[in-house]
Amino acid sequence: MPSDHPISGASKILILGGTTEARALAERLVAEGYHVITSLAGRTADPAIPPGDIRIGGFGGVDGLVRYLREEKITRVIDATHPFARQVSENTATACAAAGVPLERVDRPQWQPQPGDQWIDVSSLTEAAAALPAGATVFLALGRQYISAFEGRDDCHFVVRMVDRPEHRLPFRSHDLLLGKPSPDAAKEAALFTLYRITHLVARNSGGDAGYGKIAAARALGIPVMMIGR
Ligand code: NAP
Repeated sequence: MPSDHPISGASKILILGGTTEARALAERLVAEGYHVITSLAGRTADPAIPPGDIRIGGFGGVDGLVRYLREEKITRVIDATHPFARQVSENTATACAAAGVPLERVDRPQWQPQPGDQWIDVSSLTEAAAALPAGATVFLALGRQYISAFEGRDDCHFVVRMVDRPEHRLPFRSHDLLLGKPSPDAAKEAALFTLYRITHLVARNSGGDAGYGKIAAARALGIPVMMIGR
């Protein structure tokens, strides 16, 4: 991590962000005196803004990122994007190699099942959708771009939590929409699951603390989790 290296006035760090870990890292590096720019994709209307400089929006693929690294004279890049955000990580690796800029990746180990967890391991959204039993009340802890796989499961009720209100009606016969972010607090997530009589949770194995509350809540309540692996 950059704190192992001497602070230099010429040091300019680009953090690919959009995660709790990226924000914490920006806070730490800015406090240590680095010039930090955090890049956000611009997916959410009201993102949590870390300290340091911010830029928002895609770079325009690998070529755009190479251009940006050169123009901004970036000296290090830290990829702290979400583990399921694959495209941006691939582009960043290729662009850094092309521009000769050192790249580090903030890794989040996957969650491991604990005693009491009832995980059904699946490898895709489609598999998760197929594994749900008829009549289930399903909590979908997924972004809007991932819910179409559950379209057509008219025999289930979906409780969908999203950060921003979707532009279009959700494609479900029966659903509730909750606006908000996940809580790391298992008790809060459990209260929500109890209120909505959740029988199944669908989650991706993202790792990290920010999204773990729902996993611990499912364990406490004996709720099976369709866990989508990386
Ligand atoms: P993705 O599919 O890997 O990326 C698609 C494109 O979005 C990239 O090629 C890039 O466009 C742009 N992009 C993505 N992240 C960017 C960033 N931090 N700064 C500038 N451009 C970015 O990404 P995604 O899964 O849609 O995720 C988008 C952002 O949301 C990421 O920052 C990620 O950390 C955050 N996030 C994602 C998830 C998730 O489940 N995927 C969950 C929580 C947070 P160009 O090719 O034009 O540069």
